[in-house]
Amino acid sequence: MSRSITKGNGLSILPGSTIGILGSGQLGRMLAIEARKIGFCVHTYSPDKNSPTGQIANKEYVADYSDLNKVREFASDVDVITFEFENVHVTTVDAASAVTTVRPAGSVLYTTQNRLREKTFLSENGFPVANFRHVKSLSDLQSALQKIGLPAILKTADWGYDGKGQVRINSAEEADKAWSSLDAPSGILEAFVDFEREVSVVAARAVDKSFAHFGLIENRHKNHILDLSIYPANVSDSLRKEAIELARNILAKLDVVGVLCVEIFVTKSGSLIVNELAPRTHNSGHLTIDACVTNQFEQQLRAVCNLPLGSTEYHSPAAMANLLGDVWANGEPNWKAALSISGVKLHLYGKAEPRPGRKMGHLTALGESREIALERVLEARRRLVGERT
Ligand code: AMP
Repeated sequence: MSRSITKGNGLSILPGSTIGILGSGQLGRMLAIEARKIGFCVHTYSPDKNSPTGQIANKEYVADYSDLNKVREFASDVDVITFEFENVHVTTVDAASAVTTVRPAGSVLYTTQNRLREKTFLSENGFPVANFRHVKSLSDLQSALQKIGLPAILKTADWGYDGKGQVRINSAEEADKAWSSLDAPSGILEAFVDFEREVSVVAARAVDKSFAHFGLIENRHKNHILDLSIYPANVSDSLRKEAIELARNILAKLDVVGVLCVEIFVTKSGSLIVNELAPRTHNSGHLTIDACVTNQFEQQLRAVCNLPLGSTEYHSPAAMANLLGDVWANGEPNWKAALSISGVKLHLYGKAEPRPGRKMGHLTALGESREIALERVLEARRRLVGERT
């Protein structure tokens, strides 16, 4: 059933309508949960069957993203399409856009799904990024290393996330090996940022251009994969404001309708450098589910449906710990032990196979301070694997 009203800023998509999600992982699952709470129907599209999103959706399309007839069929059956991951080819997005509303627009995806386009967009518009060069050959890489200096990071241009397709180069002699390990026709060489901390701003922008953000979240990575997020980030008030203005301007420049996360390095001298943009909800925003009046997934829905953005007020400080497949290494985790800690919440994504490095779920803890929330969530995760404290 399609339900909508036209008022002020155009068509609003109302509860009872159908949300289409391209992609079917955990971000789509948590979006689908929020959508169904509010009374929307959900269709998801990806090559995977019984996916984390499909388990919650009313309908799961299982087909390749390049099957444009199937994409058009999917699009004709929903009122709006949004994304849960950005690595969808532009021809797929164009096919869907010809049939129904797609938010954010394909142009946002096009810019952010390729590191070279993303970094070029950021630097051309005066947003701070690490020094970078496009490299298409070993000799390009060698001369880029001379210009950028050491250490540096070589990254593939396309389809990169969670540190996939990137290698650190510490000396000029490593260039040869780094270039062959890239296994891609081109890449970008980036200056290594000796950061003090990593933070992110998860923000939303609506059809009427209104803007809402979830403040500054602090992130800690392990093996290039997000391990912990903590709210609020331990930074000065002026830095926090600067980061939020940065996000506001990036979302406006890209003309985003939806949610976008800006990943930022805070350098030791207190300046900000944008690492990456994700044109969707983000792992660092998962703590908003338990900590905020409106979480990042409901906010995405509100934005793409042209509904008013919700309050992003926090009930309390919070911390989130990812649960990778490694937590299952010695059998079923001890859920009871973790859940016996007050203020701890468990989220699992419905994935059957707990492979090492695979994001299976997360824990969130609320606390009177960020330190208490962090200690609770770490204690809960330790208890899952039976570690004594
Ligand atoms: P990415 O996949 O580009 O988001 O990178 C994943 C993680 O690798 C980041 O969150 C950082 O911890 C690290 N990283 C990426 N690029 C750089 C850089 N230029 N300097 C230092 N660390 C980096």
